[in-house]
Amino acid sequence: MTTNEAAMQTGSVLVTGGGRGIGAATSLLCAARGWAVAVNYANDAAAAEAVVATIRARGGRAIAVHADVADDAQVNAMFARLDGELPRLAGLVNNAGVIDHAARVDAMTPARLQRMFAINVFGSFFCAREAVRRMTTKATGGDGHRGGAIVNVSSAAAKLGGSGQYVDYAAAKGAIESFTIGLAREVAAEGIRVNAVRPGIIETDIHASGGAPDRARQTAPLVPLQRAGSAEEVAEAIVWLLCDASSYTTGSIVEVTGGR
Ligand code: NAP
Repeated sequence: MTTNEAAMQTGSVLVTGGGRGIGAATSLLCAARGWAVAVNYANDAAAAEAVVATIRARGGRAIAVHADVADDAQVNAMFARLDGELPRLAGLVNNAGVIDHAARVDAMTPARLQRMFAINVFGSFFCAREAVRRMTTKATGGDGHRGGAIVNVSSAAAKLGGSGQYVDYAAAKGAIESFTIGLAREVAAEGIRVNAVRPGIIETDIHASGGAPDRARQTAPLVPLQRAGSAEEVAEAIVWLLCDASSYTTGSIVEVTGGR
C-alpha cells in the first residue's frame, strides 16, 4: 500500500498540549489524515477550542480536553472522557512540555526541578500508561485493544545538554528518549509502536515562555540549514511515526533539527 492509499486513518489520536505550537500543528495534520483528535490543554482553553473549531470547519472531528498532564487524577479523567466521546484510541502524542528561564544547575530550586520533571517526564508516563492499557492486543473487549502508536516529543537539548540555560530541561528530554526506547521494547509484541521526535529550534511561543523570545532568530545561524524550523515541519515527522507508513519503525528518535 502506498502512503497515499493509506492516507485516511481511523480511530482517534490524543495530542497533549494540542492547542498551541507543535501540538496545534500536529492536531490539525492528524485531523486532515482522518483521525478524530482530542486536543488537550492545561491553561489555554481558547487556543485549544480554536484548533477544534478549525478542524470541524474543515469537516474533521475533534474535542478539546482539559488536563494538567502532571496530575495523574486529571489524566485518568481525560482518558475516561475520550473513552466515552471518541472512537478507539489509535495514537498518543506526548507533546505537552515546558522550559524555564535560563539558570545554572547550582541555582536551580527544588520547585523548578519538580515542575520540569512532573510535566515533561511524569506526564508522558501517565498518558502512555493509559494509552497502552487501551491499545494493547493482550487485553480483550471494548472498542480498543487493536494496537496503536505513541510518539514522544524530545528535544535536541537531550544531546546538547542545555549548559548555562536549562540542563534540567535537557535531562528531562534525555529521560524521554530512554523512556521511548524502553517502552517500545516492552510493548512491541502487543501491537504498539513507540517512537520520538527530537526537534531543534522551532518557531513557537515556548522561547518567550522561557524569557528568550528571540531565541529562534538568534540561533538560526548555528543551524546547518540556516533557519529555525516550523511547527508544521515537526508535525509531519510526528504524523509519519503515528501512521502505518512507519510500520517497521519502533524505538527510534527522529531528528527534526535542520542538521544541528
Ligand atoms: P508551546 O508553544 O509553549 O506549547 C506548549 C504546549 O504544552 C501548550 O499547548 C501547553 O498547553 C502545553 N502544556 C504545558 N504544560 C502542560 C501541562 N502541565 N499539561 C498539559 N499541557 C501542557 O511549546 P512548543 O514549542 O510547541 O513545544 C511542544 C513540545 O515540543 C514540548 O515538549 C517542547 O519541549 C518540545 N520542543 C520544542 C522545541 C522548540 O524549539 N519549540 C524544540 C524541541 C522540543 P496550554 O496551551 O494549555 O498552555
